[in-house]
Formats: sequence, structure tokens, C-alpha cells
Amino acid sequence: MKKKKKYIFGWDLGGTKVSVVLSDGRRIFSKRVFPSGRSLSRKTLLRQLVYCSRLLSRKHGVLRRQIRGIGISCPGPLDPVRGFIYHSPNLPQLSRFDLAKSVRTKMQLPVKVENDANCAALCEALKGSGKGHSSLFYVTVSTGIGGGFVADGNLIRGKNFGAGELGHVVLDPTGPRCFCGKRGCLEALASGTAMTRLAREAVQKGRSRMMKKLCKGDIQLIDAFTVEKAARRGDPAAKKIWKDAIQWLGLGLSGVIQIVNPSVIAVGGGVSQAGSFLMNPLTQAIRKTTWPDSFRATKIVRAKLGDRVADWGAVSLWM
Ligand SMILES: [Zn+2]
Repeated sequence: MKKKKKYIFGWDLGGTKVSVVLSDGRRIFSKRVFPSGRSLSRKTLLRQLVYCSRLLSRKHGVLRRQIRGIGISCPGPLDPVRGFIYHSPNLPQLSRFDLAKSVRTKMQLPVKVENDANCAALCEALKGSGKGHSSLFYVTVSTGIGGGFVADGNLIRGKNFGAGELGHVVLDPTGPRCFCGKRGCLEALASGTAMTRLAREAVQKGRSRMMKKLCKGDIQLIDAFTVEKAARRGDPAAKKIWKDAIQWLGLGLSGVIQIVNPSVIAVGGGVSQAGSFLMNPLTQAIRKTTWPDSFRATKIVRAKLGDRVADWGAVSLWM
């Protein structure tokens, strides 16, 4: 009986694009992607998601009774038990919305909704670097910093679903203001956005000729990749921004090891594309502030699934 319901739909709701995949938990059979953005109404967005899902089931001859359910990965604070979205910063049309209920009615299928960082943590634990390990903490470093903790195959969400929010741990109470309202959150110190802000300041103050050259004088074109590139080429200002961000990140992850002592820490997100240029100094930074035994027990790696988290994150809710 269980075998019959082998298909899973995964919906990944991103701020710029949305994807729908059809999977059996082992393979992705098909995928449809379309642009999202703020201008798309809630109704149109949902209609497109439903349309794409029906298209995929028709293409593969999948019947409703063969489908286990729909997994939805969504940014922002939400209630995964009810499938209710409190606030969606990148897709505001989905804020204060009973997403699961609406999709359940339209598709006549079971629905699970989860925060995107938690989805990424879950699929990395089940299919990526956490395979064969009892627990994994996932951290994504891109425009923001998100995290998720999986123990024995289960997401640890916390009482109010706020567990794993490493990006909003305050490491410097006098530091820069975070978008969440607090000061000196890790996200405000070490995210791609934080590095971009510091790099633009450095160029404006005439402290980095190399980054100025890389952005051809247009500071709006500077991002975390500019910092990485200039740091690799030895630009002192870029090197300092890169190094400081890694020190803060190391401090945050050292705290994770001291508190939950995970088997694996997996680092994902756009900034992790820097590979060993990030991972080597990060591992050293973690080592400096962690109990030696705990440090040795934790495997610190780059997330194995990379860009594929967008496909597998939502699917993993039904695996
Ligand atoms: Zn914050």
C-alpha cells in the first residue's frame, strides 16, 4: 500500500523564482520553473503552481492516489503545523496566509509547509553530508544567514518554531543594526549583505582600488563575490572584510557545537561557493573557540547538495 503512494511534489517558493518538481524521493523526474516576485498576485501565483503540478503529473501519467503529498519550502517565519505563513519578506503577497489549507483545497492532497532553511537542513541530513550521521546543523550563508538542526532524521523546530535561527544570535551588542531590529546579529556581521555593505563603504572611502576596479566604479555592482575575488587577489580591505566575517561565523558555529554537539555542520548558500577559501579559515576559527574534544567530534563540511537544495528541500518533507 505504502509503495503505491510513491510520488511527491516539491514547491520551492523563492523571492525571484518558484519551482515545482515531481519526485519519488530518490530521483527528480521533472521540474518547472517560473519567475515570481512581488508583482504576482497571490491568486496568480497559486494558480501557476497548481497548473505546473498538474502538467507534471499528466506528463508522467501520475494519478492522485499515487501521490504522497505536496511539500512547500517557503522563506520567512511560519507555523509548519498549521501551514500558516506569518510574514514573507520576499513574497509579501503570501504574508498572513493559510497556505496549506488553500493548497489542500485546490489540489485535494496532503500538504506540508516548512521554512526554507529547515527544508535545506532536512534534505542535507537525509541525502547530503548528513547521510549516515545522527545529527546535522545546516547553516546557509548568502544574502542572509539561516540555519536548521536535524537530529535522528527529525527537524528540531522549537516551541515557537524559532529554533536554528543562527543568523539572529547577537554576537556584538554594539554592532550594526540587523533588519530584525536587534543590533549585532550574526547576519548583520557576516552575511553576503553585511560584506557587501562594508565593501561599498571601503570603496567610497577610497580604501580599495581593486574592488573599485572590479565594479568598474559602480558600487551598486559590488557583492560578496566581489569581496571574495579581491580577497583572493590580496586586496587588504577585502581580505579584512572576508576574514572578519569568517571570524564571526566561526564564533557562531562554535556556539552551535557547544550547545548541540552535532555530528556534522554543513555550510551552504552562495558564499559557500568559495570552497576551501571559506572552509579552511572557518574551520580554524571554530577550532579556536571550541572544546577540543567537541571540535574533533564534529565534521565541518561544505553542504553536499549545493544548488540542488532548491529541488530537494521541499521534497524531503515527505521522505
Ligand atoms: Zn537579527
